[in-house]
Amino acid sequence: MFHFGKIIRKVGLVRLMTLLAFIVFIFAAVSWWGGIRGVMKITFLDIGQGDAVLVTAPGGVRMLYDAGQKDGSILSRLGEELPWYVDTIDICVASHPDDDHAGGFINVLSRYHCRIWLDGHINNHTGVFHELEDLIQKHAPKRASILRGSEIYLGDVYAHVLHPKGKESLAWRSIVTNAESIVLKISYGSSSLLLSGDLPIDQENELARGYGTNLESDIFKAGHHGSKTSSGASLLSHVKPSFVAVSYGSRNRYGHPSREAMDRLKSTGAEIHETAREGSIHFVCTRERCFLDN
Ligand SMILES: [Zn+2]
Ligand SMILES: [Zn+2]
Repeated sequence: MFHFGKIIRKVGLVRLMTLLAFIVFIFAAVSWWGGIRGVMKITFLDIGQGDAVLVTAPGGVRMLYDAGQKDGSILSRLGEELPWYVDTIDICVASHPDDDHAGGFINVLSRYHCRIWLDGHINNHTGVFHELEDLIQKHAPKRASILRGSEIYLGDVYAHVLHPKGKESLAWRSIVTNAESIVLKISYGSSSLLLSGDLPIDQENELARGYGTNLESDIFKAGHHGSKTSSGASLLSHVKPSFVAVSYGSRNRYGHPSREAMDRLKSTGAEIHETAREGSIHFVCTRERCFLDN
């Protein structure tokens, strides 16, 4: 006698097993492809005079460190890097409130949301933040000030905040915005990137004394657009970069970059790349090392 129900159950089981095997295969294929793609991407966006660095972790979390000036160029550059349907940047960091770093966030926040907004502790002292405050409240629901010791997690990429120390680091009465730049060391496995905003040499030397060999990084963003007042010998001797990205606009009114700073950067033996000459500069980093990907 046929046990019809049992046969159907058996066929169902076979189908189920086939489906499961197929799902496992797809999952394995995706994981394998994910492994291949398992890189951190770093792009120094060519936004003219200023800084704007987009870091994308292997899991897809995006962080924008600075956004250049308020002239709209950040939106053109982001449009080249991000799919059209993206309307949110996970983490936005304003390194310090000068126009050529924070100004472009006025454009960014008119087009994108920032899931998390991070800045320093001197924003009330500058004009650009008066314009930004409303936009931050509307389009960046979570906000925090970060100081030395803070950590930012982008999946398996970590950003350690090395500077500023906080209120005690302010020079009395005079607020030097560059000296309060947020410094990040961003690490993925043993690959790393050091971003120091416009930090001047005095504060760089403090970092060198405080962190020593922990500053070693594959990629270094030249301090203050290659100004002679940044990228000092002491810091560079600890960072030992393989690549340096210098972010500045051609024929800018500040005369960036200076020959002295460029000579110091070249003497590290690193490959030097400049946004004013090359446009946006792309790097990819595996857990072991970083490569130019232009
Ligand atoms: Zn600057
Ligand atoms: Zn500055």
